[in-house]
Amino acid sequence: MLGPVILAASRSDALRRTVSAAPVTKPVVDRFIAGESITETTPVVRAAADRGLEVTLDVLGEDVTDPAEALLARDAYLRLVDALAPLGLGPRAEMSVKLSSFGQALPGGHDLALKNATAVVEAAAAIGTTVTLDAEDHTTLDSTLAIHGELRERFPGTGAVVQSYLFRTEEDCRALAAAGSRVRLVKGAYKEPASVAYQDKAEVDRAYIRCLKILMAGTGYPMVGTHDPRIIAIAQDLASRAGRKIDAYEFQMLYGIRAAEQDRLAAEGHRVRVYIAYGTDWYGYFMRRLAERPANLAFFLRSLVTR
Ligand code: FAD
Repeated sequence: MLGPVILAASRSDALRRTVSAAPVTKPVVDRFIAGESITETTPVVRAAADRGLEVTLDVLGEDVTDPAEALLARDAYLRLVDALAPLGLGPRAEMSVKLSSFGQALPGGHDLALKNATAVVEAAAAIGTTVTLDAEDHTTLDSTLAIHGELRERFPGTGAVVQSYLFRTEEDCRALAAAGSRVRLVKGAYKEPASVAYQDKAEVDRAYIRCLKILMAGTGYPMVGTHDPRIIAIAQDLASRAGRKIDAYEFQMLYGIRAAEQDRLAAEGHRVRVYIAYGTDWYGYFMRRLAERPANLAFFLRSLVTR
């Protein structure tokens, strides 16, 4: 029951200011955020690569309120491409983008987000890598999938994300499970109304498995974004039933969550990609991680009283 309350708090500016300024917050945040800058994050990327893992990098930021901020967000990704180039990891280090950070919600935002995303996808292609468009709240999804379709005309490796908690997602999976299409399936991290999304965790999990079946049976490249051990085992089973080779799909997990499981899967020969977020605008991302697991909140609260 705590999850929805924390998700509502993730949208509060007053709380954002309080939590961000609290001196005790930083060490807890550091569990999920690789650093505040590219310089702090590059060693984390190298360490992941040394462990045989692939990465997708997210420059933290969302819901910008003017076009100038959207340009700053775009430029932060262009600097990230410059930092990735000398690492020579190619597609093993890709990027994840939230279109709301590129101005999607502003007037004329669809075209603005497409323009900013195109610049980043072009720069990524020049160093041999790709971009995946994160899924945000359901009101943005039509625009995000349309931008994904437009980007794919020139850059077919551009990835999409679908959330199993949304009723519409099985249909989206059918549309996306086509040749060359990279699709990350997640359960979904936003507070969504009962008119569009399952509210019950067991239903979200069942929907995840139905979506996974569609993606595994299709001709695209499924990216299984979950830490759930039961779903990981089911994904392996569905992949082998669909005749997929071990490198014809991948697992994805978030930095700071179940690192031992990431290593175990990689040691079995699976492709495992870690989602690494960095930057100073960590509040929304951090609060979604707290909402996913009440134990994280307890950890956070304990750090406040035991300092
Ligand atoms: P759960 O049933 O929530 O968790 C299963 C187990 O995983 C838990 O029992 C626990 O052991 C562990 N675990 C899960 N979450 C945490 C946590 N926060 N802290 C500690 N342990 C935890 N959501 C979106 O809406 N849009 C996106 O674009 C998006 N991108 C994602 C990219 C990746 C690579 C991943 C892994 C997730 C992404 N998510 C995204 C978040 C996703 O929607 C879920 O909220 C999140 O993954 C938790 O669900 P779960 O599948 O891990 O299963």
